[in-house]
Amino acid sequence: MKVSKRAQQVPPSATIAVTARAQELKSQGVDVVGFGAGEPDFDTPDYIKNAAIDALKAGQTKYTPAAGIPKLRAVIAEKLKRENGLDYKPEQIVVNIGGKHSVYEAMQAVLDPGDEVILPAPYWVTYPETIKLAGATAKIIQTDKGAGYKITPAQLKKTITKKTAMLVINSPNNPGGFTYTPDELKALAKVIEGTDVIVMSDEIYEKLIYGDTKFISFAALSPDAYNRTLTLNGFSKTFSMTGWRLGYTAGPLDVIKAMARLQDHMTSNPVTFAQYAAIAAYGPQADEAVEKMRIEFEKRGKYMTDRLNAMEGVECPQATGAFYCFPDVSAHYGRNINGADINGSMDFAKALLEQANVALVPGLPFGCDNNIRLSFATSIEQIKKGLDRLEKWLSE
Ligand code: PMP
Repeated sequence: MKVSKRAQQVPPSATIAVTARAQELKSQGVDVVGFGAGEPDFDTPDYIKNAAIDALKAGQTKYTPAAGIPKLRAVIAEKLKRENGLDYKPEQIVVNIGGKHSVYEAMQAVLDPGDEVILPAPYWVTYPETIKLAGATAKIIQTDKGAGYKITPAQLKKTITKKTAMLVINSPNNPGGFTYTPDELKALAKVIEGTDVIVMSDEIYEKLIYGDTKFISFAALSPDAYNRTLTLNGFSKTFSMTGWRLGYTAGPLDVIKAMARLQDHMTSNPVTFAQYAAIAAYGPQADEAVEKMRIEFEKRGKYMTDRLNAMEGVECPQATGAFYCFPDVSAHYGRNINGADINGSMDFAKALLEQANVALVPGLPFGCDNNIRLSFATSIEQIKKGLDRLEKWLSE
């Protein structure tokens, strides 16, 4: 059957081959250590699950307004005021079906064919595809380890053209947990002051920060930043709710209304009883529940970073956010390990999986072939076992 040009231009996920092979090996009884997960390994806290069960029992099983139930939009507005210092009215918030949907819908709502979107690399794999699907072009800014994998104001300035419609900021980021300091963000905000550039600030990892890392919402930087920013967030990472599919976008009323109109026809409302769970999520038990997970991630992230840096030819910035380490392993490129030529992150991931049964994600699809991504959203025992294997394999 005919497949649209639009669909044809979206490639299969470059990481799927490694993931599929890991699953195949597991099904054959091979003891694979998985560092691929993009989701917390904790269960959703009980108080949130109970709210969904109560909602189901109370018959909350019908459509709601497409942009979300008013109470949830109000609760999100309160959260953004209380925790982020942002003044959004409930009408300025649209609840989406996961943060991924927020990204897609925001781009569909503001981008036109011919527009350029500035995308710092390394980036989350979904951004380039959603930019393409909106008919726009990604202008990628390569970062390096010297700059902590963050773009500089000078790089940003140089990349802006008359066609620049959007800048994507994802801090803390996927794939490395790299987090801009408030001053670094202020300097970037200064560069775009007076332009028409919209900022899409994906803040989904805001709660997962470690050490003395500070988080600030881009929209909270200045009145100018507030006016040009779409603030994206969600429940997947903060509350370990990946399967509930709940995200949201806050921003200028005209854009939020446009997103809600698209949502009217694309999906209608997010799952009704899940929305009731989301209201509960931001309740009084939130801080304690989130902190418990954050502390555990911090311990694992520190352990993983230290172990990686102790390995020959591996350079890993200290994990400051999210639940990923993104070390540079390019010192090993050009080697042949047990018969496998290692000429990039794809070769590295494939050979490591086949020979040492450790599954991780190559950096290439994130725009950084020198690196690999390891998730520490798995138990410390698994982390230890996987890193022992990696260390041994690198020394073979
Ligand atoms: N933004 C980033 C940077 C992510 O890493 C993810 C999840 N991988 C999301 C958004 C979307 O998460 P979800 O759709 O589960 O809310």
